[in-house]
Amino acid sequence: MRMDFDKSGVAFSPEALKEKYRVEREKRLRADGSTQYVDLSGVYADFDRDPYVEPGFTRPALTEDIDVLIVGGGFGGMLAAVRLRQAGVHSFRLVEKGGDFGGTWYWNRYPGAACDVESYIYMPLLEETGYIPTEKYAKAPEIFTHCQRIGRQFRLYEAALFQTRVEGMDWDEDTRRWNITTDRGDKLAARFVIIAGGVLHKAKLPGIPGIETFKGHSFHTSRWDYAYTGGNSSGHLSKLADKRVGIIGTGATAVQAIPHLGASARQLYVFQRTPSSIGARNNQPTPETWAKELQPGWQRDRVHNFSSIVSGQPQNIDMVGDGWTYIFQDEALRRARTPEEAEELRQLADYRKMEEIRARVNTIVKDQATAEALKPYYNQLCKRPCFHDEYLDTFNRPNVQLVDTEGKGVERITPTGVVVNGKEYPVDCLIFASGFEVSTEYTRRLGFDIHGRGGRSLRESWADGASTLHGMTTRGFPNLLLISTTQSGWAINLVHVLDELSQHAAYIIDRCVKKGIEVIEPTPQAQEQWWQVILGSMRRSGGFGGPDCTPGYYNNEGSGITPAMIRMAGFGGGTLGFIEILRNWRKNDALEGLEVTPGEKPPAS
Ligand code: NDP
Repeated sequence: MRMDFDKSGVAFSPEALKEKYRVEREKRLRADGSTQYVDLSGVYADFDRDPYVEPGFTRPALTEDIDVLIVGGGFGGMLAAVRLRQAGVHSFRLVEKGGDFGGTWYWNRYPGAACDVESYIYMPLLEETGYIPTEKYAKAPEIFTHCQRIGRQFRLYEAALFQTRVEGMDWDEDTRRWNITTDRGDKLAARFVIIAGGVLHKAKLPGIPGIETFKGHSFHTSRWDYAYTGGNSSGHLSKLADKRVGIIGTGATAVQAIPHLGASARQLYVFQRTPSSIGARNNQPTPETWAKELQPGWQRDRVHNFSSIVSGQPQNIDMVGDGWTYIFQDEALRRARTPEEAEELRQLADYRKMEEIRARVNTIVKDQATAEALKPYYNQLCKRPCFHDEYLDTFNRPNVQLVDTEGKGVERITPTGVVVNGKEYPVDCLIFASGFEVSTEYTRRLGFDIHGRGGRSLRESWADGASTLHGMTTRGFPNLLLISTTQSGWAINLVHVLDELSQHAAYIIDRCVKKGIEVIEPTPQAQEQWWQVILGSMRRSGGFGGPDCTPGYYNNEGSGITPAMIRMAGFGGGTLGFIEILRNWRKNDALEGLEVTPGEKPPAS
């Protein structure tokens, strides 16, 4: 058997690992794929209640005619609003279901929540706001506060309608406006709509038999119930001191929350289906001298440097120098002479890096069986890699037990506990760290349908998959601008792409205003050409969620990708490749591929 060696010189067999990965994947394949999950509606509607606002909020309904309606008050929506203001467009409203700005950082307040992409590149508008994060990986409250800072500095609060959900959106051919209704009775007419509905925002629960029969306390991690647990996002969950707690899931969220649960609960059961890969975090406070020496343009350069490296374009300096950039450092690849050789070297490098991850488990977790169960056997980018310095050590605590379901998942939930392999684990509190919908239908995740020309709905129009130009405009839905990952850019530092898309949307709206264009929508030819670009880019991309990967949201739970899903995929030619396409398009200043209808009024001077 051929052997290879990891960084510390320990031998491993690539063939044996390949077989082990296959066996582990097989264990996790299930016929119900993505339909194994349920959403937070019907009998589960209480899981969706916003615990961060006082109940009983009311306000008078609004009737307004505005230039732009923005849906979503997370980073995408806020950045779109900021870029509109900077372009001189001030007549806009921003509708957000939460009680404040922040999106992900409004909802995810679980103990230990922090960004896992470096805060200096992840937190937007640092130079514009003059803010320097206090740590390399800022904690959730600091990021949420930064969202509020952006809201104040760019006067976004005056445009915001919080605790408000869009219910309907219809294109009116006569007025050439979108008519929008909300659950607060608002009637808004907008010339343009920007949808920045978020990527991972619709929480899901595992459809485990008996889940609705549980009589103890339970909640989803994105609606953390501090009234029950005590403490706050830095832990100290004092009310759990006499409680038996179960947590279902071991993804990126659970990895951050579990150390705090382990420190506070009387007993913690961690129900695991697939272990995450846990690299070192090495968080550190921001050095004062470093912050003082930053030159104008520093954030843009750092963001660019990171996205280059993780798009497979090596740079002379690795400014961020963390676990993410380490994954993409692939010296061996530079030696490859053919695509086949490159693939072989890439796989070998992946085996080596995952061997390091598995060896790290052995150095931290004392109980051998637990350590073995915590080792991930799949390629590194099959699931979101995690980085944490306390997670693994938590399993050395006497009050913490890993309940490994060997890939099968929890069997059943009873009124008093959780059943795995026929054994019931009694719990007082059950926490679902079960993630968010990703590959379900776009309008389902959005929470409302959009009716374009002739009353045709987006749901119908995209039933066989999306057709767009740059993922931003879609024919039949005039003046609708989408900020999403569908046929659009993708990035490990997603905020990089969100900002580019926001600038792109603001540019289109600004051009329409300045040139006196009333309606835009993409031509069928432009949509077809863009689809060909997307297809071509997919053939070149590798890594995230391939078909041989262990099931998860990156590959539709391993149940196969339908043609419609392929049409919902993003651009696979790297973050910077996508950004370059958008920038070149704007540089041409011709709104190429968009059909334009001039207005009756003369253009703004
Ligand atoms: P995930 O979808 O990554 O994790 C869900 C977890 O629930 C998985 O471990 C899954 O197991 C498990 N699960 C689902 N059904 C069952 C079942 N029936 N029995 C047992 N276990 C089950 O959600 P997260 O909220 O952890 O993360 C979602 C994404 O959010 C991340 O990938 C990341 O992109 C982002 N995130 C970012 C953070 C940051 O920037 N700091 C922090 C947290 C999240 P299995 O793996 O087998 O499916």
